[in-house]
Amino acid sequence: MKALSVLGSTGSIGTQTLEIVDDFPDRFKVVALTAGRNLDLLIRQIQRYHPEVVALADGELVASLRERLLALAPQERPARLPELLGGSDGLCAAAAWPTADLVVTGIVGCAGLLPTLAAIRAGKDLALANKETLIAAGPVVLPELARSGSRLLPADSEHSAIFQCLQGTPWADTARLSTGIPTPGLRRIQLTASGGAFRDWDAADLVKATVADATSHPNWSMGRKITVDSASLMNKGLEVIEAHYLFGIDYDQIEIIIHPQSIIHSMVELVDSSVLAQLGWPDMKLPILYCLSWPQRLETPWRRLDLTEVGQLSFRQPDPAKYPCMQLAYAAGRAGGTMPAALNAANEEAVALFLDEQIAFVDIPKLIERVCDRHRVDLKADPALSDVLATDAWARQAVREAAAGSAARPVVAAAG
Ligand code: NAD
Ligand code: MG
Repeated sequence: MKALSVLGSTGSIGTQTLEIVDDFPDRFKVVALTAGRNLDLLIRQIQRYHPEVVALADGELVASLRERLLALAPQERPARLPELLGGSDGLCAAAAWPTADLVVTGIVGCAGLLPTLAAIRAGKDLALANKETLIAAGPVVLPELARSGSRLLPADSEHSAIFQCLQGTPWADTARLSTGIPTPGLRRIQLTASGGAFRDWDAADLVKATVADATSHPNWSMGRKITVDSASLMNKGLEVIEAHYLFGIDYDQIEIIIHPQSIIHSMVELVDSSVLAQLGWPDMKLPILYCLSWPQRLETPWRRLDLTEVGQLSFRQPDPAKYPCMQLAYAAGRAGGTMPAALNAANEEAVALFLDEQIAFVDIPKLIERVCDRHRVDLKADPALSDVLATDAWARQAVREAAAGSAARPVVAAAG
């Protein structure tokens, strides 16, 4: 029986993790849950999974959660109320909870950084969905992993695919996989991208893109922020940085390839020119399950892949003019140090402004570029946690200021 701490339990990753617990009640149990603001769903989860501890990001909501749990009819109330915690310290305590074996990081954004570090420092293995944390703080997270011996198992579908493929190589070594140590024999990674909501749009039409347009993903059902990131291809850009940190591979050896069917979840090319791929329907439950069961495979009744039903797998190069975020991410990754933290925070803030209908979709890359340019003079090559946190806060503020000023003028992303 593996005991899980599920961070961000009310989100897309969190709820899919709990569905896996439902599918394998003899294998997995939940000892800790954390959430942002969705108390209704969180209460239903507490009733179903009986966690030992529950933490809310907003400490002020803890009293109301307690009241609502106590107001439940006796037959609906858990026999023992979980320990209820709040704020950043509460999230960190839930992430480092002594009885947890594995921490699923389903918090969205850099808000996951401190809980992730708390889990690593407590020696927990992690199922990493919260990519923003590794992207913003790779130079801080990797040494902590090396110190504690925690394993970072990738839940992101592309990185899970790479992780799975690498286990088919003679150099596979669990001490090395996904810890940032270069993987011998690995020549190239090809990250597949669906192309997101605007895959079939002309670049010139992106000026008209609305929030509803950007949040309807063709293949995957996910939280709103990552769905917008998929539409801009920033998600793939962030995944390039994530792959760099997880697999210790240079940026020149990581490629993005548009694969509209989302059946091949990514590929690795080895030094002898062999290419290994991992395939499956676009469903996050499989990469999450693999983190939970690794190194074992569990039998599932899930829909099996039928390539004759898919018919065709197609591939094309992404258009850099249509997707400027992709290049911004490569540039930030190559600059290293605190630059990915600036990029990530600027993106989080710009996407929030877009979702709030304060800026246009095409303003997102403009704002990020401006902030990354400004950060160049302050870049710390070998940052401490405090540098990452300071960069994150500065970049968010810089985006808000730029958006309030002239930067958010409507722009056309590409001339076509
Ligand atoms: P989501 O918005 O559906 O859920 C986010 C969760 O985090 C919710 O439980 C929310 O309450 C909580 N949360 C939000 N803000 C918080 C804060 N400031 N502090 C603490 N908790 C907070 O997001 P998601 O789609 O589940 O994505 C979660 C993470 O997983 C992201 O980093 C995303 O990039 C990554 N990811 C998601 C998918 C997917 O299919 N959804 C795939 C790959 C990677
Ligand atoms: Mg992904």
